This record gives sequence, structure tokens and C-alpha cells, in this order.
Amino acid sequence: MELSKKALSISPSSTLAIDAKAKKMKADGIDIIGFGAGEPDFDTPEHIKAAAIKAINDGFTKYTPASGTLELKQAICNKFKKDNGLDYKPANIVISNGAKHSLVNAFQAILNPGDEVIIPAPFWVSYPEMVKIADGVPVILNSTEEEGFKFSVDKLEKAITAKTKAIVINSPSNPTGMIYTEDELRAIADLAVSKEIFIVSDEIYEKLIYDGYKHISIASFNDKIKDLTIIVNGVSKSYSMTGWRIGYTASNEKIATIMGNVQSHATSNPNSIAQKAAQAGLEGPEDVMNMMVAEFAKRRDYMVERINSIDGISCINPNGAFYVMMNISKIIGKEFAGVKINGSDDFANVLLEKANVALVPGSGFGTDIHVRLSYATSLENIKEGLNRIENFLNK
Ligand code: PMP
Ligand code: GLU
Repeated sequence: MELSKKALSISPSSTLAIDAKAKKMKADGIDIIGFGAGEPDFDTPEHIKAAAIKAINDGFTKYTPASGTLELKQAICNKFKKDNGLDYKPANIVISNGAKHSLVNAFQAILNPGDEVIIPAPFWVSYPEMVKIADGVPVILNSTEEEGFKFSVDKLEKAITAKTKAIVINSPSNPTGMIYTEDELRAIADLAVSKEIFIVSDEIYEKLIYDGYKHISIASFNDKIKDLTIIVNGVSKSYSMTGWRIGYTASNEKIATIMGNVQSHATSNPNSIAQKAAQAGLEGPEDVMNMMVAEFAKRRDYMVERINSIDGISCINPNGAFYVMMNISKIIGKEFAGVKINGSDDFANVLLEKANVALVPGSGFGTDIHVRLSYATSLENIKEGLNRIENFLNK
């Protein structure tokens, strides 16, 4: 029997696939160094866990409103006011099962069949597939390492057609760690307002910023761009809560209502206990987070310096998130351990099989001359992993 053509066209998440493969090899007793999926290696802070345990003991274990509890929505509004200078009401907020789910809801809410969504490359692997799931058409806007992995507004303007419905902005970026400056964001916002195009602004790495950079939400410039923007955020990265699955959006009320309606049929509410835990994270002390950021910055410095000291590979300095895009263009076409490297998939495979290092091929991010390394792992692992890469390349 014929299956859904749309579902058949969706490729699996390469980040999750690598992570699953590396975790399986580890469980089989193989000593793997994992630079794969981006998830903080720190434990979820104690006060957050305590809030979840309390929620269970208090019997907070039933359905909540489908788009989330009023108190968590209020905590999210307070966060937007404090961190981003944005005024939202609970009616603007939808809480979902992770930011991934929030993004899927956002595209479902704004796209009609054939609508185009501009996605700057390198992009996070899930964006094009999410757009396709919502019957949209991903339009990829390339940028090079020499351009700092940023697109110019001129280039963006040329990519806009009568069918353009939305632009994805992900700053700080997964996978490049790039951050847009205020001027760059203002230029994008002005263009979006003049052409009436939505912005889907994925700000999940907003707290993971180094080198004195500051996160600015594109929605904060004026009411017009605020009305056109769906901000996506969540607690996975900033509070080391990847498994708890809480993400959220802020948008105009109309969009929030229809996202909530879709969610009410697809999943109902996100986990009640995880909502209490997320609230404790948002309302709690930030010292744990500051410690994480300081540690990530140290790891990044080491990784960047080390990669650039190894013959054949290089990288630019990422200012946010916890990823490094390693340039492997000098390796492509060469043979290592008896295997010819034709692109990033070959490199990732051979490195996993022969050197027991897991990283994510750039192919899924829209660039085949890079691989992505996550530095959300201990400095000790980073040193060992890079030793292995160096030894492998020297063979
Ligand atoms: N956006 C980006 C850019 C990401 O890297 C991730 C990674 N998980 C997500 C959204 C989704 O996060 P989550 O679903 O865990 O909240
Ligand atoms: N977002 C993380 C990554 O890119 C986690 C895996 C995923 O959700 O894709 O590695």
C-alpha cells in the first residue's frame, strides 16, 4: 500500500542519529568520544529537580490547559520582560514539548501549501524538514565561512519572492555559533516589515554567549516587527533540561491561539511535572547557568585553538551556542585508513569507525566541507577526542 509521500520525503535527524549510534557503541563497551548531539553535559540543577519531585508529591500529575499552565506562561512573560525588554501577556505564550515542537507548531500555524520559508545556511538540520512537514517549501540562503556564516541583507532581499512567507533567524546559531549584531537584525527586521514577512526567531541559545556579545531579540525593535515575529525558546539548553521537553513561543495572540488549537489535538499539554520544573528554572537563581557558560567558553577556546593547530583542518571562532564548525575541505578527496573521503558523511563515518570519535557531518546542515563538533562535553573528553582526530589525520 502506498505510504504518505510527504512523510517519505522527510529525512531522519542526523544529529539524533549520530547521538543514538554513539550511545549504542558506548553501551556495547566501545570507548567513544562524543562530539555529536548538542546537549549540555551538566546535570539539571537541584532546585529544578526538587520542584519536579514536589509536583509529583503534590499530585500535580493531571492534564493542564493544552497550551500550558497560566503560572508558567506568566514566568515566561517575566523572562521576556527581564531578558529581552519585551511585553507579552500569557495569551501570547504557547508552551510545548520542547522548542522543536514549538517550531513545528509555528510552521503549521503560518504556512499554506507552496509557501516559501527562507532558511539561512548552514542551518540546524530540522528546519527544512519542519517546513516540509507543514507543506511549505524551504529556500536555502547560503553563506560561507569567509562571510562569517552570515548572509547580507542584499542577498536576503534577492531571495524573497511573492511566495515568501517567513524567514528563519537562529542567533546564536546552531551549527555555526554565529551571532547577528543589532544593526544586522534591524536591517532584517526593516525588510521583513516592508515586505510583510514573518520571522521565526529561534533564540534557544540566547544564554550561551561569549566574548562580551549580547543577545538581542529581533522582536524588540518595534511593534510591527514584534507582531510579525514568532520567538521560539526553551529550557533544554539554558537549564540543562534536554530530557524534560519544555519549549515555548511568544507571538501575536491570533497565532498563539491557532498554535494552541493545533497542539490541543496533537499532544495536549506538555508534561505537567516538567512545566513545574521549567518554572523553577526560569524563576530560580542564574548562578548555575553562569557557571555553565564560563565552562563552555573555556572549552571553546581550547577546541578552536587545538583544531587550528592540526594540519588539514581549521575553524573560525564561534561566539555563541556550543558548536564548532570544522573545515575539512583539505581532507576531501584524500584517503584515510583505506577509505576515500568524498564528503562530510564519509569523514564522520570513518572517524567514528576507526578513531571512535562521534561528530555530525555538515551535509545535514547544508555544507559538505564542514563537520560539527559539540563542546558540551568535558575538557578531558575534548582533549582526548582531538588527540584521536590528530593521530587519525597523521596516519
Ligand atoms: N532549535 C535549535 C537551534 C536547536 O539546536 C535545538 C536543539 N535541540 C532546538 C531548537 C530544540 O530544542 P528542544 O526541542 O530540546 O527544546
Ligand atoms: N539540537 C541538538 C543538536 O543539534 C540536539 C539534537 C536535536 O534536537 O537535533 O544536536
